[in-house]
Amino acid sequence: MATLRDILSERVREGDSALYEKLDRNRVRCYACGHCCPIPEGQPGVCKVRFNRGGTLYVPWGYVGGVQCDPIEKKPFFHAYPGALAYSFGMLGCDLHCSYCQNWVTSQALRDPSAVSPPLDATPQDLVKQAVDLGAKVIVSTYNEPLITSEWAVAIFKEAKAAGLLTGYVSNGNGTPQVLEYLRPWVDLYKVDLKSFDDHHYRQLGGRLQPILDTIRRLYAMGFWLEIVTLLVPGFNDSDDELTRMAEFVAGVSPDIPWHVIAFHKDYKMTDPDDTPPETLLRAGKIGKRAGLRFVYAGNLPGRTEDWENTCCPSCGELLIERCGFRVLRYNLTATGACPSCGQVIPGRWDPSYQGQVASMPFLPGRRGRPARFSILPS
Ligand code: SF4
Repeated sequence: MATLRDILSERVREGDSALYEKLDRNRVRCYACGHCCPIPEGQPGVCKVRFNRGGTLYVPWGYVGGVQCDPIEKKPFFHAYPGALAYSFGMLGCDLHCSYCQNWVTSQALRDPSAVSPPLDATPQDLVKQAVDLGAKVIVSTYNEPLITSEWAVAIFKEAKAAGLLTGYVSNGNGTPQVLEYLRPWVDLYKVDLKSFDDHHYRQLGGRLQPILDTIRRLYAMGFWLEIVTLLVPGFNDSDDELTRMAEFVAGVSPDIPWHVIAFHKDYKMTDPDDTPPETLLRAGKIGKRAGLRFVYAGNLPGRTEDWENTCCPSCGELLIERCGFRVLRYNLTATGACPSCGQVIPGRWDPSYQGQVASMPFLPGRRGRPARFSILPS
């Protein structure tokens, strides 16, 4: 019987020349993520989905691990088109192996036999057509680490842009200068999951801190719309000292970058720590504000974190966007994205007029909302 690796090895094409180089002795070096793997012939990289066959780098192509329509607030993007529908797709595999991954069924499909996630064949045209038919404004690569499948994401994003959609990455931020240059023309919104401010912790997850910090600085300098998320895992990354250093780093890049501190719940292999209580989110929020960040949000505990789900004007305190979980309850920005009370411009990507919320819950295409003309999901 064919293994998942066998199945995926048929759904590939040559990597883009911007993202790899050929070395001596038929080796290649991949630049799609911060590992920058030198890959001998016949071997995969750390992510297990990009591999060297005969001195050529082959990369994932022509399938998705799943698709779903989400409120854009779920990604989370809070300063980009509030209420919009984000059509989300992912492939399989990851360059990290976080023991608390909430998308482990797709991200760890090639490392963990209990992660059963067959690929579903798809074309960029089909995916974009479905996104448009369902009323999505944004199409987002998520669920697995999108950097390692960037060629496929860019192929979809080229179609998406031609159809008038915006595009986004939900990523661990383990990037390289090469992959960010490759993505810059095609990616509008970029969320980085900053998991810790301790290199030792990052090594436990299979990465290093420095490439993540470098990527955050580059993303901001290159003009991607950037929001940062930190999942607060009790005992792992929630000390005052670590959160302060993290917040001061983000504020040093720009105090205008939204920082989402969100609650952990037991998942995958990490079942020891307790779920994050609301008090920890409130403490992290205050640390973020003290560090100079102007927009700090508490997530995953709707209605339990005082006003930390809302956007307030950093100048006069006016309530600008009221939220509960993924729901937008009130929208109060001007057509130019400014505070109606004092005129302070709020950083972000805003529509001239609020379009209302398309969906406040995630749903699978074809099961809710306008029916899809085709379904790439099993019913
Ligand atoms: S994407 Fe990252 S982990 Fe995968 S082969 Fe390239 S450099 Fe290595």
